[in-house]
Amino acid sequence: MRTGFFWDESCFWHSGGNYAGMLPVGGLVQPMVNGGLPESPESKRRMKNLLDMTDLSGELDMRGSEPATQRDLLRVHPANFLDQFKAMSDAGGGEIGLRCPFGPGGFEIAAQSAGLAKAALQAVLKGDVKNAYSLSRPPGHHCTADQPMGFCLMANIAIAIEAGFADGLAKRVAVLDWDVHHGNGTEAIFYERADVLTISMHQENNFPLNTGAFADRGAGEGEGFNLNIPLPTGAGHLSYLEAMDQIVLPQLRAYQPDVIIVACGFDATVIDPLGRMMATVDTFREMTKRVMVLADDVCEGRLMMAHEGGYSEVYVPFCGHAVLEEMSGSQIKAPDPLADLYLQRQPGEAHQRFVSSEIAKMRDALGN
Ligand code: ZN
Repeated sequence: MRTGFFWDESCFWHSGGNYAGMLPVGGLVQPMVNGGLPESPESKRRMKNLLDMTDLSGELDMRGSEPATQRDLLRVHPANFLDQFKAMSDAGGGEIGLRCPFGPGGFEIAAQSAGLAKAALQAVLKGDVKNAYSLSRPPGHHCTADQPMGFCLMANIAIAIEAGFADGLAKRVAVLDWDVHHGNGTEAIFYERADVLTISMHQENNFPLNTGAFADRGAGEGEGFNLNIPLPTGAGHLSYLEAMDQIVLPQLRAYQPDVIIVACGFDATVIDPLGRMMATVDTFREMTKRVMVLADDVCEGRLMMAHEGGYSEVYVPFCGHAVLEEMSGSQIKAPDPLADLYLQRQPGEAHQRFVSSEIAKMRDALGN
């Protein structure tokens, strides 16, 4: 069996918003010739192109999917939100929620993005593929049931999970979010549920502001089934692996999920415009290896990754390629072109020690 790679051209056509970086154009913010939101199609399109250039895509099971159905969407999102989004989309687009612009047909593209995640998860749960990657765009992890934000228009992963539950394909699901931003949407949707463990490892207090605290552990039946690991700004390769080894992996193992889903953002890299962390291609490679070993131990290797953020159009493709090299076990390599520049530019020893002590505090509090 091969690694499934789920993608759809329409996801690259999602557009909208007159922005210059994160700023709406107007006043003293000049429009950009090649501008727009940092969440451009290029990081995703170039990732797919790189897979084709090296022919790694030839070793993957390249698939498309149907869009998520209204029934799929309604398991997570209220009808009035979907109706409003669809009406705006039919009328030419607009902006819904915080930093969530979209163009004509944005509703259908968002449903397609969620449909890819749903199909990827189903393929994994049915044993049709070795594991799977969904190149979803727009991303999903900031979107709550009724509040899109941070480029996320629908909650892709939550929609995929609920479809899996509805079809009786899984009972317990673990989500590990390593996007540099807090996975607040996925957290909120499952906050009072014990059947979905949500873990978010993120730069502390980046986005959204004032969410993602270590103290937020879930509520009601979900008490203890949400975990935030806010890492100090500037944490690098070694810190990410330390957090994985000391906190994330023991928590995943203790939960014994039927499948592990990774909210796979590549914006924790040293070159990303929207993060202030120092991960590299190797960080994502090593984290992928670790998650795969764990998935082999606890859930027969069942692993699905859904693409989230990542805004370096140059570097994201190489991070994605490395993840897919590991997932598929391919010998085709796309070496990190920035290794000479960035691998040696990791945090100094004092900062490294500081981050380690913060990680140790969280580990000790959890009793891992
Ligand atoms: Zn992000």
